[in-house]
Amino acid sequence: MSHLMNTYNRQPVAFTHGRGCYLTDGEGRVYLDALAGIAVNTLGHAHPEFVAALTEQAGKLLHVSNVYRVAEQETLADLLAARSGLPEAFFCNSGCEANEAAIKLARFYGHRRGIGNPAIIVMEDAFHGRTLATLSATGNAKVQDGFEPLVPGFIRVPYNDLEAFSSAARDNPDVVAVMLEAVQGEGGVHMLDPFYLAELRRRCDERALLLICDEVQCGMGRTGKWFAYQHAGIFPDVVTLAKGLGSGIPVGACLAGGRAAGLFCPGNHGSTFGGNPLAMTAARKTIELMESGDLVTHAARIGAWLKETFAFALKSLPDVLEVRGQGLMLGIELARPCGALVGQALAAGLLINVTHERVIRLLPPLVFGEREAKELVEKLVPLIKDFLKE
Ligand SMILES: *Cc1c(COP(=O)(O)O)cnc(C)c1O
Repeated sequence: MSHLMNTYNRQPVAFTHGRGCYLTDGEGRVYLDALAGIAVNTLGHAHPEFVAALTEQAGKLLHVSNVYRVAEQETLADLLAARSGLPEAFFCNSGCEANEAAIKLARFYGHRRGIGNPAIIVMEDAFHGRTLATLSATGNAKVQDGFEPLVPGFIRVPYNDLEAFSSAARDNPDVVAVMLEAVQGEGGVHMLDPFYLAELRRRCDERALLLICDEVQCGMGRTGKWFAYQHAGIFPDVVTLAKGLGSGIPVGACLAGGRAAGLFCPGNHGSTFGGNPLAMTAARKTIELMESGDLVTHAARIGAWLKETFAFALKSLPDVLEVRGQGLMLGIELARPCGALVGQALAAGLLINVTHERVIRLLPPLVFGEREAKELVEKLVPLIKDFLKE
């Protein structure tokens, strides 16, 4: 019997190594990776220059402590500020931690304005993590059931509904912020309308509310821009990052600008491991290699090709409801639950994911080439057709 806590329904495979967009298991079987560890392995597996940078850093310094200056943090904060437009960064180790920092920042902002019970507007179908505050912000009963009492201070509204947002903000004088994913990941690859986001920005400004974008999944080039909010031409006050930021090394960030800048002082927040030199090197090198390989533009181009090709190949199937998403964050929604497809794809040498019961989710590494894209279509389309025939 396993001594692991039973927190995952795992596929019956264990990988031993990887290279680029392929993983190999203990029996020597090779799999095309169209999941990237859920949007984590930006540079694919065992990228030689990435491995060299990590190896070099590991041989110099792994951890010191945030009671000292950490030069690698200052460098990464500069790189993120230049690309996001948000001038300040706090570093942590995961997405939920980045969101915890954002939620604390919003509450702190409220208290500064004399609001004793600050509330944050959140979206239906949102996913923000599994700590108590972030699962309370999440819009999925399965994530919350059994863990009540939930953390108070969240007001839920449907996404892409400006009237619902405005009436929630009007009815609740305690509202200090709105938190959202520009492209919802776990919730089924739903895009927030760029017009909705731009108008939300305007309405937040009118009421001096913080706009918090959870870019843990949709950020770091995945949608074909550095950050998904950039498709709407806006600047949030707070942006959270993790998943793809370190290409497989755990690292998260909470960026702040606008009304959220300059709020925290020493003692307000912290992390033992957050911002350690190894994680900072992983993120810096990820950004450098994304830029030298032009991977953001590449994600936009190869993602558009995949979306179009899947839509064309599946258009005659009435049980394929929609092919949607942006860049290399794609969803194929079927008319019925399709979790079984994950195992069928695995048996065919392909790694995919199903979220929200009926949505096939594709999150390949950003180094996914044309050859891999063709192979993905050639493998997945017949699997979907066979599945829908069953
Ligand atoms: C995965 C995810 C999180 C949680 O990240 P962890 O690193 O698992 O804590 C938060 N928000 C979004 C949008 C995510 O996709």
